[in-house]
Amino acid sequence: MEKKPVRAKELAAGKRISGFDEVVSGYSQEEALAESLRCLQCKNPACISGCPVNINIKEFIFQVTKKDYAGAYFTIRKTNNFPSICGRVCPAEYQCRKACVLNKSKFAYCGPEAINIHFLERFVGDYGMRNNLQAPVEKDAQSSKAKVAVVGSGPAGLCCAGELARKGIAVVVFESLQSCGGVLRYGIPNFRLPREILDYEINYLAKLGVEFKTNVVVGKTVSLEELFQQGFSRVFLGLGAGVPSFLGIKGENLCNVYSANEFLTRVNLMSAYKFPEYHTPVNIGQHVLVVGGGNTAMDAARCALRLQKINGIKPDVKIIYRRTLTEMPARRLEIKHAEEEGIKFRFLVQPKEFHADNRGFVRELNCLSCELREADASGRRKPVVLEDSDFSIPCDLAIIAIGLEANQVLTSATPELKTDKYKDIMINPATMETSIKHVFAGGDIAGGEGTVIEAMGMAKKAAISILQNP
Ligand SMILES: Cc1cc2nc3c(=O)[nH]c(=O)nc-3n(C[C@H](O)[C@H](O)[C@H](O)COP(=O)(O)OP(=O)(O)OC[C@H]3O[C@@H](n4cnc5c(N)ncnc54)[C@H](O)[C@@H]3O)c2cc1C
Repeated sequence: MEKKPVRAKELAAGKRISGFDEVVSGYSQEEALAESLRCLQCKNPACISGCPVNINIKEFIFQVTKKDYAGAYFTIRKTNNFPSICGRVCPAEYQCRKACVLNKSKFAYCGPEAINIHFLERFVGDYGMRNNLQAPVEKDAQSSKAKVAVVGSGPAGLCCAGELARKGIAVVVFESLQSCGGVLRYGIPNFRLPREILDYEINYLAKLGVEFKTNVVVGKTVSLEELFQQGFSRVFLGLGAGVPSFLGIKGENLCNVYSANEFLTRVNLMSAYKFPEYHTPVNIGQHVLVVGGGNTAMDAARCALRLQKINGIKPDVKIIYRRTLTEMPARRLEIKHAEEEGIKFRFLVQPKEFHADNRGFVRELNCLSCELREADASGRRKPVVLEDSDFSIPCDLAIIAIGLEANQVLTSATPELKTDKYKDIMINPATMETSIKHVFAGGDIAGGEGTVIEAMGMAKKAAISILQNP
C-alpha cells in the first residue's frame, strides 16, 4: 500500500494574516512516525551529502521509526546545534530533500515525494526542547583556562559560542543590537520562527556560562586590539551581511521607501506590529510594493500584508521581480504561503524611477518590462529590458529587498583584516582563520549571503580550530 507523504498542518490563510502567530504547526508523534516510515533507509543516503552540515539523516529518521526521539535528538545535535530553528527555516528543498531518492517516481509506493526531513528535524528538535535535552558538556583542563570573544550573535556567533562553552571555554558574545539572534531576531518574522525558540537557545547558552554583552559595536565601542588586551585569547567574527543593497534609481530616497532591513527590523525587533504599545511605528500604506525575489522579499511582503490587515486597511501587497518564478531564490514554501495570503507577483519587471506627491512621499513606481535571455554568471537567465515598455504601479510604501552586503564598521577600523572584492572577510577555508592571527570568521561575513545552516557550519569549523589551540 502506498505510504502518503504527511503534510504539516497550517493556519488557514484568512486567519493567519490577522496576526504574527506561527503558520506551520509541527508534526504530532503519530505524524512524525508515519512520515519516518516512508524513509527507504538507503544504503548510500544522498540526503546526508545534501545537508551543509551532513546531519546523519538516515540514522535520526531510523531512531524516529523506533520512537527513540531522544536518540534522534542527539544524533542531530552532533552536527547541528539548533534543530528546532533549522527545521523551520532551512531551504530543505534545495538541500537534503533535493537529494532524496524518493524524488524519483519509481519508488512511488512510498509516495513520489522526498521525505519531509525538515519537518522531522523540527519535531525532534521541539521534543528535545520540551524535554530540556542538551548535548553533554565536556570540559578539559586546557580549554577551561581560555577566554574567547565572539562578535555578533546571529546563527554563526551563537553556534560558535555553544561549541566553545560546551568544552569549558569562557565565552563573551558582543552584539551591536539591543537583543541577540541576528537575522533570526530582526529579519525572520515570528510567524516563521517563534521568538520562544530563539530565546530558549540563547538562555541555554547563558546557562552554560556564555556572557552576552549587547549594544557593543566592535570596531567602534571597543577595538579588536582592545579585546586581546582585555585577555581574550581568540576572537570569532560572525558579523553577518547586514547592509542593504539599493537599486540606485531616482526617487529611492523618498519618504516611505524603505530597505527591507529597516522595515523588518522595525517590525520584528522593535515590535512595530504592536504599535502604540511599542513605540516604533511603520507608516503602512494602502498600496505596498516589494522589490526582490528572495526570502527577505517574502518576509517583508508578508509582514506588510499583516500590518495592513491589523490596521484595518484592505490588503494590497505586490512583489515585483525582474526574472520569473522559476529563478526566484526564495524558499518554495514561503512563495506558496505568500500567494495563499493574497500577495500578488509581477514578474519580468525592472524598477526605473519612484515618483512622489508634493510632500515628498512616494506615490508610484515607474517600471520597464523585461524578457529573459541566456544565463548570466549566477547560472540564471538574464533579464533584458524591453524598449518603450514603461508603465507605472501605484505605491505609497515601497520596500527594497534586493540583497545584503557586508557591514564594514569593523573591517574599515581594522585595515589588517583582509577583505575580498565584496568586502567580505577573507579566511583560510581549512581553519576559518582570517589574515589576523587568532581571529577567525564565519557566516555571511565570510562567504556572502548564505543560509542559517551554512553560517552554523562555518562557525563550527572555526570552533574546532579554536579548540585545537585555545
Ligand atoms: C529577512 C531574511 C530572511 C532569511 N530567511 C532565511 C531562511 O528562511 N532560511 C535560511 O536558511 N536563511 C535565511 N536567511 C539568511 C540567514 O538568515 C543568514 O544567512 C544568517 O542569519 C547568517 O548568519 P550570521 O550569523 O552570519 O549573520 P547574522 O544573522 O546577520 O548576525 C550577525 C550579527 O552580528 C551583529 N554585528 C554585526 N557587526 C557587529 C559589530 N561590529 N559588533 C557587534 N555586533 C555586530 C549584527 O547586529 C547581527 O546580530 C534570511 C536572511 C534574511 C535577511
